[in-house]
Order: sequence, then structure tokens, then C-alpha cells
Amino acid sequence: MAGNFHVRFWGVRGSIPCPGHDTLHYGGNTSCVEVRAGDRLLILDAGSGLQYFGQHLQAKGSIDADLLLSHLHYDHILGLPFFAPAYDPGSQLRVWAGNCNSGVETALRQFLQPPFFPVPLQHLKARFSFRDFTSGDTLNLSSSVRVLTCALNHPDGATAYRIEFDGRAICYVTDTEHPTQGLDAAIVDLIRDADIVIYDATYNNSDYPAHRGWGHSTWEAGLALCESAGARRLVVFHHAPERTDAELQWLDSELQRLKPGSVVAREGLVLQL
Ligand SMILES: [Zn+2]
Ligand SMILES: [Zn+2]
Repeated sequence: MAGNFHVRFWGVRGSIPCPGHDTLHYGGNTSCVEVRAGDRLLILDAGSGLQYFGQHLQAKGSIDADLLLSHLHYDHILGLPFFAPAYDPGSQLRVWAGNCNSGVETALRQFLQPPFFPVPLQHLKARFSFRDFTSGDTLNLSSSVRVLTCALNHPDGATAYRIEFDGRAICYVTDTEHPTQGLDAAIVDLIRDADIVIYDATYNNSDYPAHRGWGHSTWEAGLALCESAGARRLVVFHHAPERTDAELQWLDSELQRLKPGSVVAREGLVLQL
């Protein structure tokens, strides 16, 4: 089915929300990305940006959505208890996660319970279903939306997604650390000829060495991956909390020069495929 295919950013940070004077332009909320593929709604991660997305959705009525979690670190799930559609009995949410040892439902039950949060998961009124899979599996969300997955190099694991629709592809690759030598072959395969690659660029080549082993990558590694795989646009994502607007503005212009069409993700940014 041909049709609308676009992506919109609601949260672009890693680690922890970081509101403040230095993050006003690019935003301080953690990972949450909306993807519209024809009449399907996909949500990539449930970071603090999900709260604002929920308010936006709620104003239009109930939803039917697939929530694809990269992994369960706090910065990728902390918006879920504040997601208004989760409390709407008319809404339907399929929650997907790869390689969760005890299953994603069990893990989220542990997160959403006293004393951490007063409302347990079973009191969220939306119709939830939980879909565990093995990273590397292909998820057929509908006859026209196919999602390929692969495992990432991150403490406790994480999963990358490639969403295919109407001959086009968006990839979401966070959180991951690049290998010491060469490129991660599984990521190169996943993002081959993709239109958009959203990539973990917590660090850059100068601040990465002090954080080796922390499970994150650089925009320079993202560029190399896109070049190798023939991917068209790199979207630098999962910014470190301390990365200022001024630094990201510099990076935005650097990306324009090095790979035109590439951008730094910011809250509110919409990219049409
Ligand atoms: Zn993260
Ligand atoms: Zn993580």
C-alpha cells in the first residue's frame, strides 16, 4: 500500500532528561520517536518524550499502536507511566522487545509497581499485549509494514529496528557501541540502502575514549556505517545530556557538509520519506 511514511522526534536524548537553557533548541527529553507508515502508528521507545506525544495523541482520541522498545534501560521506558493513551480503555498497544530474559511484560510489571510508581501495570486500562522476540527476527506488523531487527552491543543488550514500508526504510539504531576495529557487520546489513538511519551518537571521537565500554557510539561511526551501507541520511540521536545546543548546531552544519541531508535530531523534527 503506497502512502504517507514519516518520522517525528519527541525525545532525542540519552541517559536522563535534561531540561535547561543549553538544551532548549534540540530538547531535553529522552528517546521517543513516532513513525507513521500509511495508517499504522509505530512508536520507537518510551522515554520521557512519550509523555508529550501522549498528550498530542489523546487530543485526537483512542489509538492503535505498536511500541517497539530498543531495550529497557530507564531512559527508554520512563515515559510509559505518563503516557495518557495507556489509561484509555479504547486504546490498543502492542509492546515489542527483543531478548528480554524474563519477558517484557514481567520486566515492566517490576518497573510499574510501588514503591517505584503508585499505579501497577495491570491498572493501565488500555488493551496491552506483549510481544517478545529474539533480536534478528523479522516482525510482520501488517501486510505492508515489515520490521527487521538485529542485536546491538550494549550492556544488558538492545535491539535495532529497520521499518520497511512501500519500498522505503527507516532504521533505528540505539543504544550501541561500535567495534574497536572496522564496522559492526550486522548493522551494515540492517541499514543497507536505507533512506534514514537514526543512530546512537552519544559521543564523538574526542570524548568517546573516556567512555569506552559504556555501550554507546559516535556520529563519526554513524557516518562510516551509512557510507558503507549506502544509506542516504544519517540522523544523529541519543545526545549526551551535557551536549549543548551550540555544540549540536555546530554538528548539524558539519553533517550538512559531510553528508548532505543528514541532521541532528531535535524535538519536533519531522522527516518525510
Ligand atoms: Zn539510552
Ligand atoms: Zn541503554
